[in-house]
Amino acid sequence: MSAPRNVVIAGAGIGGLTAALALAARGFSVRILEKAERLEEVGAGLQLSPNASRVLVRLGLEPRLSHVAIAPDAVSVMTARSGGEVSRLPFAHAAGAPYWVMHRADLQSALLAAVNDHPQIELQLGRPVENFTINSDGSVAVPGGAPALALIGADGVRSTVRQQLFPDVQPEFSGLVAWRGRIEARRLPHGLAPRQVQLWMGPRAHLVAYPMSSGEQVNVVAIVPGHLDEPHASATDIARHFKASHWPTSVQVMIDAADGWQRWPLSTLPDGGIWNAGPVALLGDAAHAMLPFAAQGAGMAIEDAAVLAQCLSDVEGTPTVVSAALARYAALRAPRVGRVQRTARQSGRIYHLHGPMALARDMVMRALGAGRLQARQNWIYDWKP
Ligand SMILES: Cc1cc2nc3c(=O)[nH]c(=O)nc-3n(C[C@H](O)[C@H](O)[C@H](O)COP(=O)(O)OP(=O)(O)OC[C@H]3O[C@@H](n4cnc5c(N)ncnc54)[C@H](O)[C@@H]3O)c2cc1C
Repeated sequence: MSAPRNVVIAGAGIGGLTAALALAARGFSVRILEKAERLEEVGAGLQLSPNASRVLVRLGLEPRLSHVAIAPDAVSVMTARSGGEVSRLPFAHAAGAPYWVMHRADLQSALLAAVNDHPQIELQLGRPVENFTINSDGSVAVPGGAPALALIGADGVRSTVRQQLFPDVQPEFSGLVAWRGRIEARRLPHGLAPRQVQLWMGPRAHLVAYPMSSGEQVNVVAIVPGHLDEPHASATDIARHFKASHWPTSVQVMIDAADGWQRWPLSTLPDGGIWNAGPVALLGDAAHAMLPFAAQGAGMAIEDAAVLAQCLSDVEGTPTVVSAALARYAALRAPRVGRVQRTARQSGRIYHLHGPMALARDMVMRALGAGRLQARQNWIYDWKP
């Protein structure tokens, strides 16, 4: 008799919720165990490029997202050196796969509603996965739960599942801190509210701003050097940082207009790590937390979910073939995700140049032109499940 096609997922973030929907679409019964008592996303925005939106559209989420997401037509790359635009890269909207920006809470609500509507998915809140056991028949169990074919650790950068599988792998602090704030668009002087994605490059820092919540709010993220623990850090530090480095007035106006600032020390995992062992695999930030400078962390978690479901779809309830399917998933994902991790690191170095190097960067970007700069992103955006 074959074992039931059931999977347990630790973590109901963007990765865990998408994986549950992708697996359920392939006929699996899924139980999501989430540590938090309530699901709440930070009041910040998220960019989802076509490689990720394509997966969400295929999972049937477009009707739930299209009225809350905005599809800007370009990213405007600005330099703090002169305050001018270095390049404007149009987002190529592939058929059915838009470049979306949205409030994180809107994405989470859409995923959550789809999960709650699905008869084969059970979500348990206030249920942390503290450890797991691999049984002699190859199945895996978490305390208090029935054996499952597979356990997916989608429990974020401080993953408990990863900690048990690979205790030596620890997140490393990057030396950079992201400050996330929100601006009521009507509080900005006329013409200053970004209608596209705005990327400001400057000395040892950068800033990203884009509309969200049907254009009523602007999401603003400021990346600055910092420490892991700064108990006395406050939002006034950001304004001070950008004033001291003589950033253009429009950036300073945006920073002054923002509120709800939250501080996120940026920690990453090394690329090229191992993501699976037997019937257990990691997904999303638990496997590959990266710097957010390619705006792809959630995108990669969403892609992981699609590939994981594809790899497991052939598994007909036999625990012995599950580990091979999970190994295939990791082997398919790791090279691409590693390249994205490296791209994000490199982007950060380029954005934060200062002095003559910043001047050279701006000249090279202008000389390359939007078409060639855009083409460098195509390998990310053109991905299809
Ligand atoms: C400033 C900033 C900007 C970003 N911008 C973008 C962007 O524009 N586009 C993009 O694609 N990505 C972006 N990212 C990255 C993106 O936010 C993350 O990669 C993504 O949210 C990771 O999702 P996840 O589901 O893997 O992990 P998480 O969102 O961390 O979810 C993990 C879940 O697991 C739960 N959990 C933890 N431990 C346990 C446990 N033991 N048992 C059960 N549950 C547990 C947590 O409560 C949480 O709900 C950005 C990140 C930052 C910091």
